[in-house]
Amino acid sequence: MNRLLRVLILFCVVASVLLAFAPPARKAAAKSTKAQTPAPQAGATPQRDEKLWRRALALQKRAIVVDGHNDIPTIMADEDYDIGVSSAGKYHTDIARLKKGGMTGEFFSIYVDRQYATPDWVAKNYTTQGGSARRALDLIDVSYRMIEKYPRDLMLATSTADIRRAKKEGKVGVLMGIEGGHAIENSLPALREFYRLGVRYMTLTHNNTNEWADACCDTPRHGGLSDFGKEVVAEMNRLGMLVDISHVSDETMSDVLDVSKAPVIASHSSARVFSNHKRNVPDELLKRIARNGGVVMVNFYPAFLDEKVRVAGNERDEKLKAQRDALRAQFKDDPKRLDEELKRLNDQNPIPNTTLSMLVDHIEHIAKVAGIDHVGLGSDFDGVPNLPEGINDVGDLPNITYELLRRGHSDEEVLKILGGNFMRVFAEAERVANVERRKISGEGSLRRLK
Ligand SMILES: [Zn+2]
Repeated sequence: MNRLLRVLILFCVVASVLLAFAPPARKAAAKSTKAQTPAPQAGATPQRDEKLWRRALALQKRAIVVDGHNDIPTIMADEDYDIGVSSAGKYHTDIARLKKGGMTGEFFSIYVDRQYATPDWVAKNYTTQGGSARRALDLIDVSYRMIEKYPRDLMLATSTADIRRAKKEGKVGVLMGIEGGHAIENSLPALREFYRLGVRYMTLTHNNTNEWADACCDTPRHGGLSDFGKEVVAEMNRLGMLVDISHVSDETMSDVLDVSKAPVIASHSSARVFSNHKRNVPDELLKRIARNGGVVMVNFYPAFLDEKVRVAGNERDEKLKAQRDALRAQFKDDPKRLDEELKRLNDQNPIPNTTLSMLVDHIEHIAKVAGIDHVGLGSDFDGVPNLPEGINDVGDLPNITYELLRRGHSDEEVLKILGGNFMRVFAEAERVANVERRKISGEGSLRRLK
């Protein structure tokens, strides 16, 4: 888990309170769905229906399972973590548990923190850490190094064909997605280079607004996408890099849906109806994503899943603000210690968790509003400090399959949710690119932001 990510999540939650963004939360809807669906019995509980569990495991084995977002590369880069070594109980991801979870295609997040786009920070740290693009390159490099180190277990996947080949060969296909459009440093050539390195989606923003797109949780500057932002989307369509609308503002989502020639993804976003967080997708936009042919891959983070967790988290943020600020001042030169102290403070002030059942409520809600063809999984493993009860790590993915089957979904529906829908979207983006690519690197190939 990354300290910065955690701080950013906290910042985002606080920011949403401060900005007083509060359309009426539809808690009643959440409640009524929950009332119909008792807590899941998946996992090692005695109430588990063993026959159904075996069916879930068999289906998981057969499925192409794609997860839209995993932050393990940040840990690999910052803590020199080797994904071949068991990290059960510490991190959400290692090779053994990827296999246990039946993973076919895991998107490694090339997450670039906003600090890399902050001139003051970059000025101070340029010699040792560079800027946004350098950070992305570092994470791409650790991803490659792990793939090279474990060729029997992992393979680089940059296409639907690669994902199918990974399935056939019993390997985990590692895909790469950039999180935070500032990674391209406002350069279409840089965007193309990332594509050539194998990056197959880019989340247009992280929580920070950049020079060409507004983020969910920051001051808007463009009213959505700027003209250059539209060029970025067009170039991504041309290349066959999926446009990811997680983390962006509603206006940016809307602009993307207006201009994108290929279906879009939300690599790790949940439904706003159940947790009124700006990171989540509202129903109107779910419907538009369906018309675009895209897919919303549900984020597992409890505060994004459950309004009561989100509110409790906000209240805790307010309560602990002074103490956290004091710790930040005290340990400003010792980030590791600061991380430990902040975690300790959180542990002393626990908030309620949510359940895997609530996660499956999101899947069902998106399936209801957008259609069964437009929902998938985007865990955010190792990017979030905790997960719902019933799912502890990537090895527990079959628990979701079990719960979907228990609720009466057919094998075909579950296969779509686990990865089939993503595969359709990716294939369509590849098809659009094949047409678009007749033009060589478009006009304005050296165009830069003015
Ligand atoms: Zn994220």
